[in-house]
Amino acid sequence: MHMNELIIKNSTVIDGTGTPAFPADIVIDNGRIADICHAQEIKTDTDTKKIIDAKGLTLCPGFIDMHTHSDFTLLLEARAESKVRQGVTTEVTGNCGGSPAPMITSGRRDFMEYMTHLGQLYNQEQPPEIWNWDTLDTFFTQLTATGSAVNIAPLVGHSTLRSNVMGYKNTIPNPDEMALMKHLLERELEQGAFGLSSGLIYHPGAFAEKEELEQLAGIVKKYNGIYTTHMRSEGRFLFDAVDEALSVAEKSGVSLEISHLKCETPVQWGKAPLILEKIDQARKKGINVNFDQYPYTAYGTGLLEIFPVWAKENGSAEMTAVLNDPEKRKRVIHDMEHPPLEWDNPMEGLSWDKVLLSGFTQPENISFNGLTMTSIAENLNLDPLKALFQVFCMEKGDLNMIVFSMCEQDLMTILQHPAGMIGSDGCSVSSDGPMGGIPVHPRFYGTFPRILARYVRDKKVISLEQAIRKMTALPAEKLGLKNRGLIKKGMAADLVLFDFEKIADKAAFDNPHQYPTGIEYVFVNGKAVIQNREHTGKLPGLQLLRGE
Ligand SMILES: [Zn+2]
Repeated sequence: MHMNELIIKNSTVIDGTGTPAFPADIVIDNGRIADICHAQEIKTDTDTKKIIDAKGLTLCPGFIDMHTHSDFTLLLEARAESKVRQGVTTEVTGNCGGSPAPMITSGRRDFMEYMTHLGQLYNQEQPPEIWNWDTLDTFFTQLTATGSAVNIAPLVGHSTLRSNVMGYKNTIPNPDEMALMKHLLERELEQGAFGLSSGLIYHPGAFAEKEELEQLAGIVKKYNGIYTTHMRSEGRFLFDAVDEALSVAEKSGVSLEISHLKCETPVQWGKAPLILEKIDQARKKGINVNFDQYPYTAYGTGLLEIFPVWAKENGSAEMTAVLNDPEKRKRVIHDMEHPPLEWDNPMEGLSWDKVLLSGFTQPENISFNGLTMTSIAENLNLDPLKALFQVFCMEKGDLNMIVFSMCEQDLMTILQHPAGMIGSDGCSVSSDGPMGGIPVHPRFYGTFPRILARYVRDKKVISLEQAIRKMTALPAEKLGLKNRGLIKKGMAADLVLFDFEKIADKAAFDNPHQYPTGIEYVFVNGKAVIQNREHTGKLPGLQLLRGE
C-alpha cells in the first residue's frame, strides 16, 4: 500500500482564491497536495507517515513575496530565515532594476556599485573577482545547488542590463546598445526569467527615457513576462510617474506591476484614492496593471538618495568628492535648504527626526546605527546638514536611511484595493547570520505577519481571505505560476499553518532582527522548513522558471 507523506488534519483552510475559509484535512504526497478531504472524512491513519493535528490553526498557500532583493543574500543565508519564518515560500528577486545577471565582464565594476547601493552586496562580501556567472540561470543554478529554503522567481534588472552595456553614461542608448540590451534580456527570458524590473530613481536606471523602457517591455511582452517598476517618483511627481508606468504598459502590452505603491512626503498624503482611481481607469482600458506594497509608513534605501540629482548622479564616490569641493558643497547646501521646484526632494515637508541612519562601520560612528539624523547631529554638535555630510564622507557613502514619510491611512486605502499584492522589499537574512548585527528595515522580518495581525485582525481593513489572496493566488496568477498559490489538488505543497489569534510581527525599527510569532509550520515543496515554530534546516526551494 502507498504511504502518504503527511496529513494535516482539522485545519481551517483558506485556499487563496478569496472564497470563505472551510474546515478540511489536506493530504500531502510527493511534494504536492494529493487530496483535500472534508474534516473527519479520513478514518484510517495507518497509511500515513505523519499526521499533524491542526485544530484551531489556519492553513493557506505559502506566501509569494512579490518584491525582494535576496539575490545575493541567499548565497550567504540559504535558510532564508527572515522570510520563511513569515510564511514566505517563494521570493521574486531582482527588483528595482538590480539583478545579478546578465553579466558581461566589462560591466562588472559599475554593476557592483549599483547593487551595493541597493544594499545587496553587504560590505562587498561577494567581490567581482569570484563572480563566474554570466546569466541568471547559471547564477541561480549555483545557488540552488547548495540549497535554498525558499523557491526563487528571478527578474532581470534594467539597471543591470544598462550598466553592463552602457556603464553609467547619462545618454539614451545608441542602436547597437539598444540591440545588445534587448538581446541580453531576451536570452534571460528564454531561459525562464519572469520579466524585467526597473529602478527609475537610481542611476543608471534613471537615465532611461520612456522609449527605452517601452522597447524592453515589448520584449518582455513577447514572452508573457511581467514588468515591475520602482517608479521615477513616489513623492512630488507620483502622478506623472504612474502615468509613465501605465503608458509603458499600454504601448508595449506588457503586464505591469508597480513596485511598493505609496504616497510619499506630506504633499501626497491623502491622495491614495486618486492614484487607485488612475489604476482602475487603466484596468478598464485593458491595461494589465497590479502593484505590490509593504505595511510600513517608512521606506528604506541608500543615503545617497537624499542628495540633489545633479550631485548624486555619478554614484557615492563622486558624491563624496562633490561634498569635498567647496563650490559644489555650497550648491548642495543651497539646494537642500531651498529645494528647486523641479527636484523630487525626499525631505519635502519632513524634519530630520524622521530619518534613521544605519550601515556605520567606522569605530567612532558605530553608535550612530539606528539613530535619527537629529540625534546624530546633536551627538556631533553640528547642524544636521553638516553632520550628514560628515558621516556620509567618513563612511564613503555606504550608509542606508529609513525615512518616515507616509501616512497610515493611505497604506490602508491601498491595502483595500483588489489589484494589490504584498512585497517585503527586503532580503533573506537571519538574526545570527552575517547581516544580524546590521540595522535593517523591519519589513525584512515582519511584512506578512504584520498585514495579518495589524491590518486584518486588529484594524479589520480587509478580510483574512482577501489578504491571503493578495499573498498567494494573485501573485501566482501574475507570475504565470500554474502550480502554486492555491490549495488545490495537484498543486505544489507550499503551505503555511498559522495561529490567527497569535500571529504577530515582532521586528521594530530599533530592534529589527526579530522573528514573528504564530507561524507554526511552513512547507516548501512538501517539506517542513518550519516545524513547531523552529527552522528544520531543510532547503527544498527550487529555482522556478516562467511558464513552467
Ligand atoms: Zn524599490
